[in-house]
Amino acid sequence: SGASLHTESEDGSGFKGHGMLAPFTAGWQISDLHPLVIERSEGSYVFDTNGKKYLDSLAGLWCTALGGSEPRLVAAATSQLNKLPFYHSFWNRTTKPSLDLAKELLEMFTARKMGKVFFTNSGSEANDSQVKLVWYYNNALGRLNKKKFIARTKAYHGSTLISASLSGLPPLHQKFDLPAPFVLHTDCPHYWRYHLPGETEEEFSGRLATNLENLILKEGPDTIAAFIAEPIMGAGGVIPPPKYYFEKVQAVLKKYDILFIADEVITAFGRLGTMFGCDKYNIQPDLVSLAKALSSAYMPIGAILVSPEIADVIHSQSNKLGSFSHGFTYSGHPVSCAVALEALKIYKERNIAERVRNLTPHFQEGIKAFAGSPIIGEIRGTGLILGTEFIDNKSPNDPFPSEWGVGAIFGAECEKRGMLVRVAGDGIFMSPPLTISPQELDELIGIYEEALKSTE
Ligand code: PLP
Repeated sequence: SGASLHTESEDGSGFKGHGMLAPFTAGWQISDLHPLVIERSEGSYVFDTNGKKYLDSLAGLWCTALGGSEPRLVAAATSQLNKLPFYHSFWNRTTKPSLDLAKELLEMFTARKMGKVFFTNSGSEANDSQVKLVWYYNNALGRLNKKKFIARTKAYHGSTLISASLSGLPPLHQKFDLPAPFVLHTDCPHYWRYHLPGETEEEFSGRLATNLENLILKEGPDTIAAFIAEPIMGAGGVIPPPKYYFEKVQAVLKKYDILFIADEVITAFGRLGTMFGCDKYNIQPDLVSLAKALSSAYMPIGAILVSPEIADVIHSQSNKLGSFSHGFTYSGHPVSCAVALEALKIYKERNIAERVRNLTPHFQEGIKAFAGSPIIGEIRGTGLILGTEFIDNKSPNDPFPSEWGVGAIFGAECEKRGMLVRVAGDGIFMSPPLTISPQELDELIGIYEEALKSTE
């Protein structure tokens, strides 16, 4: 597809490809291959420029929660565009959709009471803003040394300077002079890969909590501002937490007065079978990052939920300083907010979390039935998120040599058969639209099975 985009360079350097410096795309992909150009969507499917249909098993980038053709979201955007395409939210001027969306989010999040909402345009901006907000808060309290952040190896929190620093994936750091020095990384809670012989999940969680505590003590508790975690790690491998992990981690953080930032960019709005990941894992965060399904990805928007305690301090401090001098032209963009409001309405009306709970056995057991394949190390996930890790001899410590690219081979086999999956090294990830039908799930499982057989 897209042959017309594939052109030779005129200067004879041999560089081929289209005019876009594409995000997260390898040089060889840009230079040698035609991009897959997606033209339109319909429910759980997308179509390329040649009219080929694909089941979109990752829902875009884990984000089109209501599928690709929800007319109510289109109507919400159109109506807002006609009424007021833009006004900002600076200097105590704002718009109705942003106020309404803030109110709605505060009502929906019940894992603990939250105080205020700050709007961004993306998950990366939300996490960047978290860091600035926490610094501002600690400066207001006179805690001038409490500035470091602890994140986890294999975390993904975005790709701006700060959010890439918080991320724990080496390609996000290498050649970018990252992570920033105020970010520390602690263990990835992947039981299958990292547990010691004979260690139970609970013991594993206990060991990781002890390692976290030791890191805090080594650095000095007075220097650690916050810990950030995805309830389920997404891009790092779809890694659900082991038993008691968040209980034990939260106990350590409380002991040293360290804030908990829940990065719910993938997990919020039903994906795990609960409205938020914090509900599922009994997390009481001080701050929450949201994006993606917040608008079902029909418009860019992110948000931070801020605890009442932090919001109060920021309010009183900004009274003294004149303003909380942080924000974006498009913070609380009225069209994005109108679309998000409609998405939240639909999630509630359609009991989306319950729908996901009902589909969970079909999806999870349907795919986990292939765990005995000689090339599968582990299949993991819950709700409508799932990762498969390929391996050559069933030992978590002996993955395929990466140049084998088994994930890429499997991904290509899926694509041939009309399904798009996310390939990452020797893993593949799926997080279909939350509106996927049981018949479409059967199709997804069928293509997975055929692709697996061809890859084996
Ligand atoms: N946080 C998590 C957990 C994510 O999965 C992502 C994106 O995949 C981000 C943050 C970054 O969001 P964005 O790509 O909207 O900047």
